[in-house]
Amino acid sequence: MNILMVAAPGAGKGTQASRLAERYGVEHLASGDLLRHELALGSAIGRAAASYVERGDLVPDELVMRLVLDRAVTAAGRGGYVLDGFPRTRQQAEEAYAMTGQQEHLTLDAVVHLEVAHDELRRRMLARASAGDRIDDRHAVIDHRLDVYDRQTQPLLEYYRDRGLLVCVDGERPVDEVTQLLFDALDGVRSGG
Ligand code: AMP
Repeated sequence: MNILMVAAPGAGKGTQASRLAERYGVEHLASGDLLRHELALGSAIGRAAASYVERGDLVPDELVMRLVLDRAVTAAGRGGYVLDGFPRTRQQAEEAYAMTGQQEHLTLDAVVHLEVAHDELRRRMLARASAGDRIDDRHAVIDHRLDVYDRQTQPLLEYYRDRGLLVCVDGERPVDEVTQLLFDALDGVRSGG
């Protein structure tokens, strides 16, 4: 089972992706977590990505693809993945498809989108900011990340809708209800129904 999560920052991607990974016995891969890990290590990729992450801009495709693609291919060989935060642009989607699309076990089963209004996204990110665990949850960066999402990532939804892969769920419902809605939608996909 191979699932992508495409949603705005603050929509609950990470929480829901890890629940989906557990239910379907697949690996949860989060591009943001992989990048933050490289930043913490101070690796070459981490140093190259740092200023983009801090500003809330997208990291250049080449760096992200290097971090994500091999891991996704390996996970797919072991039964699948929930990929959270990648792709973020149409170009990333097309490049990933060109590099892997021919291999049957890498075929996508669903692309999950959590719908959350901007006011609510902002409220959630500000709450996370006061918990203080992310460099890019500072107030000035939050609006920029939402803007980047609208301009660069949102158009991906159309791309996947056209391919019949998009599953949209109301991400403003209580967190356990969102999970249940996702299970209801994706259990059918898994059983081929
Ligand atoms: P996230 O944890 O998914 O909100 O990602 C945090 C930050 O990591 C983003 O604001 C970007 O700077 C960077 N990032 C994560 N995934 C990608 C991606 N697929 N392409 C480019 N940058 C990314």
